Amino acid sequence: MSYYLATKKELIDWIQRLAAENQLYFPEKHGEASYRFNRVGPKSEIQFDRYIPTVVPPVKLLVPAREELLRFRTDAEGKTEVQPSLDTSFRVIAGVRSCDLKGISLMDLFFKDGVPDAYYLARRENTAIIGYSCNTPCDESAFCAAVDSLDHTEGADVYVTPVKEGDLLVEVKTSLGEKLTAGVDWKKCEDPEARRIGAVTARPEPFGRSFPAPLPDTMKIVADKYQSAVWEKHVKRCFSCGTCNLVCPTCYCFDVVDDLNLDAASGNRSRSWDGCMLPHFAEVSGGHNFRAEPAARQRHRVNRKFTYLPEKYEHGAVCVGCGRCGRQCTSHIDIFDIVTDLIQEGSR
Ligand code: SF4
Ligand code: SF4
Repeated sequence: MSYYLATKKELIDWIQRLAAENQLYFPEKHGEASYRFNRVGPKSEIQFDRYIPTVVPPVKLLVPAREELLRFRTDAEGKTEVQPSLDTSFRVIAGVRSCDLKGISLMDLFFKDGVPDAYYLARRENTAIIGYSCNTPCDESAFCAAVDSLDHTEGADVYVTPVKEGDLLVEVKTSLGEKLTAGVDWKKCEDPEARRIGAVTARPEPFGRSFPAPLPDTMKIVADKYQSAVWEKHVKRCFSCGTCNLVCPTCYCFDVVDDLNLDAASGNRSRSWDGCMLPHFAEVSGGHNFRAEPAARQRHRVNRKFTYLPEKYEHGAVCVGCGRCGRQCTSHIDIFDIVTDLIQEGSR
C-alpha cells in the first residue's frame, strides 16, 4: 500500500494520461442536471469535486443492459458448436463514490455465488477502479451513512480522499493500483491515517438523511413488517415502470433469450436487464403471477435490500443509500420514505 498527496491538477493530468492509453470512464454532465459514466476523450471535462450520482451506476458497465452471451451453429452432420462472447477488454472506471464501490463489492459477491457468472467476472477481473471519498452528501436524496456505505473503500485499486489542507490523499490499495500509478511524481504522504481522520471529522453530522432507528433495528423492523399498510401507501402512485430496479447498483436480475437466424441452424443467446417491479416478472407458465399486485412487488423489492439478501450474504443492508431510486422515480417513490414509514408505524 502506498500513500501520496497530490494536487487536483496532478490528479486530473494523471486521469487524462490513463485515458489516453486505456478505455477510461468518468462521470460527465449530461443535460441540465444529470451525470453519466462516459468514456473519457481528449476534450472531456474531469472534475472530481461534485456530482450527484450518475443516473445509471458504474457497476452496470460490468453488466450491460443487453449483452450477447454466446453464439451457436449446428453443421450439416448435426454437430453444434458454441462460442462464448466474453468481454475481456481492460477498462478503468474512475470517480466511483463509496456507495457505488459498495454496490460493486456486493455485485462481486452475488455474481461469484453458486455457479460463478463468467461474463460479469471476465469484465470485473479486467477492470481497475479509482474511488473517491465524499466530504459532503451528494444531495438531499442520499442516505449512504444510514446504511453503512459512506466509508466503503473495498474494491477500489486507488482511493482518493480530499483532505482538509486542500490536497488529495491518494491511497494505492492493490498491485493493479501500483501499476496505474507507476511513475507519478506526487509527494509521499507520511501520515495518511491522521489526514483521513481529519477529513472524516470535518464532515457534516448527520451526513445525509438518517433513519429514525439504528441500522440493525431498521432491518429487523422491515423483516417484521410483512403485513403493513405501508406497502399499500406509496405504491398507489406507482406505474410499475421498473426504473427503480434499472438504476439500482445492487439489482442484478436478467432475462435470457435465444435468437435463431433465418438458416435455422445458427443464432445467439443474450441477456437483458429485468426488474421485480415489472408486472410480469413473477409470472410463471400457465399464467399464474406470484406478485400480481404492485404492493407485493414493492414489499419484495424492499425486503431484498433489507432482509432477504442481507440474511443470505451476512453483509449488512444491500441498499447502499445512493438515493437513485427515489431521484429517478417519476412519482417520487423513495425507498428511504417507505422504510422510515415502516419504522414509524412500529413506534406508534
Ligand atoms: S420507479 Fe417509481 S413508478 Fe417506477 S416502478 Fe419504481 S416505484 Fe414504481
Ligand atoms: S434501493 Fe435505491 S437507494 Fe438503495 S441502492 Fe438501490 S437505488 Fe440506491
